Amino acid sequence: MKNVLSVSASRRSVLKKSFALTCLTVMGVSGLAVPHISFAAALSQAERDSMTPDDVIEHFRQGNLRFRENRPAEHDYIGQKRSSAAGQYPAAVILSCIDSRAPAEIILDAGIGETFNSRVAGNISNPDILGSMEFACAVAGAKLVLVMGHTGCGAVRGAIDNAELGNLTGLLDKIKPAIAKTDYNGERKGSNYDFVDAVARKNVELTVESIRRDSQVLKNLEDTGKIKIIGSMYHLNGGVVDFYDA
Ligand SMILES: [Zn+2]
Repeated sequence: MKNVLSVSASRRSVLKKSFALTCLTVMGVSGLAVPHISFAAALSQAERDSMTPDDVIEHFRQGNLRFRENRPAEHDYIGQKRSSAAGQYPAAVILSCIDSRAPAEIILDAGIGETFNSRVAGNISNPDILGSMEFACAVAGAKLVLVMGHTGCGAVRGAIDNAELGNLTGLLDKIKPAIAKTDYNGERKGSNYDFVDAVARKNVELTVESIRRDSQVLKNLEDTGKIKIIGSMYHLNGGVVDFYDA
């Protein structure tokens, strides 16, 4: 891991510079030849608070682009660890699948202290996850709830195939409403990954709906413009994250 920030410049001034550059990127002038500099330290409260929910989405869009182009930020993880030890100001809470191939921070090129993370097979919601999200947004000030499904999801396939195993059976039952609600002309089987991916997209959509329905706290924050709740899909092939923020 290269540490480009171990030079004598003060960590704070480098952070200001990197944040300014990130702001340039998120403010829609990313077409300019602005060199990317990673956060020297974790987000400060002022920096996180200055971002709108749309800024956070654009921040992740740019991070995913860097990931896909194999030019990730040169994270100073030790600096981020140090600066976030006394307090954290993450910009988002992400609900994603446990799949080992879909690690949210890596595919969004996010550092320590930037995101809360909730991971569960099939990225479904439940009261404990909602409570975690409510803490993330209403208490800790995160601006975005990002539900992230992915292609080739084994949990979705398991739900389609009616897999049964201990506690997993009940978890897969929570994905099953998405199967019935998926419009699909073709073979509706777990062996058809085109169908599996269509169900995974519908599952993301239903999870987003369930968050609004089951959490008055998060719905109020969204209705007043303080946060956004959106879905997304990560494509194992190609590495693109599609954000459903339109
Ligand atoms: Zn999965």
